[in-house]
Amino acid sequence: AKSDGRKAFRFYSADMTEQARERLAIETALRHALTRGELWLAFQPRHDLVSGRLVGAEVLVRWEHPTQGLLLPGRFIAVAESTGQIEQIGAWVLDEACRQLKRWEQAGIPEIGLAVNVSGRQVLQGNLIETVQAALERTGCRPDRLELEITEGFLIRGPEASRVILERIRDMGVRIAIDDFGTGYSSLSYLKQFPIGTIKIDRSFVRDITLDPNDQAIVTAIVALGRSLGLRVVAEGVETPEQMAFLGECGCHEAQGFLYSKPLNVREFLGYCKRPGDR
Ligand code: C2E
Ligand code: CA
Ligand code: CA
Ligand code: CA
Repeated sequence: AKSDGRKAFRFYSADMTEQARERLAIETALRHALTRGELWLAFQPRHDLVSGRLVGAEVLVRWEHPTQGLLLPGRFIAVAESTGQIEQIGAWVLDEACRQLKRWEQAGIPEIGLAVNVSGRQVLQGNLIETVQAALERTGCRPDRLELEITEGFLIRGPEASRVILERIRDMGVRIAIDDFGTGYSSLSYLKQFPIGTIKIDRSFVRDITLDPNDQAIVTAIVALGRSLGLRVVAEGVETPEQMAFLGECGCHEAQGFLYSKPLNVREFLGYCKRPGDR
């Protein structure tokens, strides 16, 4: 039994080393990712549930790693948050998103909005106000085409400071969305306390929405609450027509998910914008 225990321990610590090595490798490679142009943006279409029309997209960062191929944010965002690299990456994502918005506006595709994910570290430790301001000025894109998605978990770490920062950004005309709503330390008072314009219902509530009465109750309540506060309510992770129908019936405004489209590169997204006939 004793030797078994030691074996287990060795295995465990070898595992930890492997993890630490992986983190370090990611951190090191990330330093060059921006300067070497390895990051790119994917766009996941967002649709109005009443008209079916395409109204915008969520911006999701992608990393074409030199040796590992395409990496999804799950592999590197947490590392970038802990090292602080997220501030630079986040600023680049914002800039690039605003540049796209401006290009589309000039190309006669003006009715598209973009929602950009913003890490709490950018709010609390980065200079998010200046970053947003600079992106808007540099690109000349319309602030009301831009939305920032922030998870509620981060707001709790510095509620007073983040409220002030988010208010300044809202005052520039940029919308603020609460991401993954219902999964964090959800305090409903946030909805009053922060300058929120949009709630995004987390995928975990949408997944079983046609089967699970509890999820149905939760989603119905979130939508009713959001609507009565005058907020826009968006569901993520919509994969089936039945989920879409349920969300539409309970008054959810918009939806995104594989039912409509997976995240697309810019060329694919433009094709999607121009496809004949809206869903
Ligand atoms: P999120 O904000 O919850 O983004 C939605 C995630 O769900 C995306 O994963 C998207 O590809 C995936 N998804 C969309 N529709 C469906 C669906 O119908 N079914 C399923 N099963 N999944 C769907 P992705 O691209 O891997 O992004 C993961 C997370 O990484 C995002 O979660 C977001 O929190 C973060 N992230 C992405 N881009 C950025 C960024 O530029 N900055 C920061 N700070 N975080 C980012
Ligand atoms: Ca998001
Ligand atoms: Ca989300
Ligand atoms: Ca989510």
